[in-house]
Amino acid sequence: MDIDLGNNSMETLCKTCSIQLDKIKNGGRFIDKKEILKTPRKTFTANIPLKMDDGSVEIFPAFRIQYNDARGPTKGGIRFHQNVSQEEVKKLAFLMTIKSAVVDIPFGGGKGGVKVNPSKISESEKERLSREYIRHFHRFIGPEQDIPAPDVNTNEKIMGWMTDEYEKIKGRKLPGILTGKPLSLGGSKGRSYATSLGGAIILEEYLKEESIDRVEVAIQGFGNVGSNLAKILHDKGHKIVAVSDAEGGIIDNEGIDIMDLYGKYDGDGDLSKMKDVEEISNKELLELDVDVLIPAAIENQIHEENVDKIKANIILEMANSPVTTEADKVLENSNTVVIPDILANAGGVTVSYFEWLQNISHEYWTEEQVNNKLKAYMVRAFKQVRETSENDECGLREAAYILGIRRVLEAEKSRGNL
Ligand code: NAD
Repeated sequence: MDIDLGNNSMETLCKTCSIQLDKIKNGGRFIDKKEILKTPRKTFTANIPLKMDDGSVEIFPAFRIQYNDARGPTKGGIRFHQNVSQEEVKKLAFLMTIKSAVVDIPFGGGKGGVKVNPSKISESEKERLSREYIRHFHRFIGPEQDIPAPDVNTNEKIMGWMTDEYEKIKGRKLPGILTGKPLSLGGSKGRSYATSLGGAIILEEYLKEESIDRVEVAIQGFGNVGSNLAKILHDKGHKIVAVSDAEGGIIDNEGIDIMDLYGKYDGDGDLSKMKDVEEISNKELLELDVDVLIPAAIENQIHEENVDKIKANIILEMANSPVTTEADKVLENSNTVVIPDILANAGGVTVSYFEWLQNISHEYWTEEQVNNKLKAYMVRAFKQVRETSENDECGLREAAYILGIRRVLEAEKSRGNL
């Protein structure tokens, strides 16, 4: 495998993939191990011309990549960002393939994106761009084919526009085309905080195995994932000592009153400007002597320069790829346990699967039903990753990759492709 996807997970993957592929033989015939997972099955690209509010026309490059569909329809979000590229979408589509397999939902992996700076376009331009995306790609997606969802800078509202556009083109109601929709269009209860709840469930399972009751936690990132996770862990009796957003953070060694903070902070605020709080920088937060450090913001936050200063016993990766390759190697040989992103933040895609199930069966679940099912899926995935790490004598990250890749390859084998 020689996909250069540029982070530590990929490096682990390359190693793991070769091991797993070497083990799978078909009647003595060796399939070229470089081919089966090296490239995406289908890549669709478009240059979307968009009429701007002032009457001019601008072109926006757009992508949809279906990396692997051996286990089911491909699944993955659509990102609106100025740095979106085909390479990035490919990498994320690959990660979705493995993540869906780790939690054992019957989906493959895909991803989409538009190269656009969303802060530079108006709301009406954003709506037209969302609808144009669907017009350009509707032939290739579908509830049994490829099911998009929100990602960076796309949200429930955009999923609503996209669902509407898709249903208009097809001339019938097909809510299973997208997940992360508004409840009024068939969205699932519990979806908005599913990633955070999934992470909390995984952490509690780990703590239970280690016979640890209550932990001190620092969380970097106070957006959808970080703020919901802070609330859930606070409700479960853990002590949140520090939280931060892009501008900086706050610390209280006695424990932050998260409910109070939740009420005051509207997400566009600035944590460090809140009154009567002790400030802390993002750099300092990552280096705190806490039981659990939760990076829930952006990638590459723990790197070669700060890894030696990390004092937390456990890192719960809620952001995608928050630890670099170099830092991961250092952590592997330290006392810090890393609970990897493809397990820790898989609650979102799991409830997306529940949303799709509800859409295609036309039967809608209560919030309690959703959350109970999420717990069952996350606990099972945690136990299986743990078991794999014991059997294959490796860390949790490698174990998660082994488990996911094994499942994808099993499906490829059953299809006669291996
Ligand atoms: P969000 O945009 O709602 O929140 C991001 C938070 O990170 C904000 O508080 C922002 O201020 C902060 N931040 C941004 N840059 C920062 C920096 N340089 N230093 C410190 N903080 C910074 O995003 P989200 O939906 O909460 O997602 C957070 C992470 O979790 C991302 O890596 C995302 O890919 C990953 N993730 C999210 C989901 C989901 O369901 N939302 C699912 C899986 C993975």
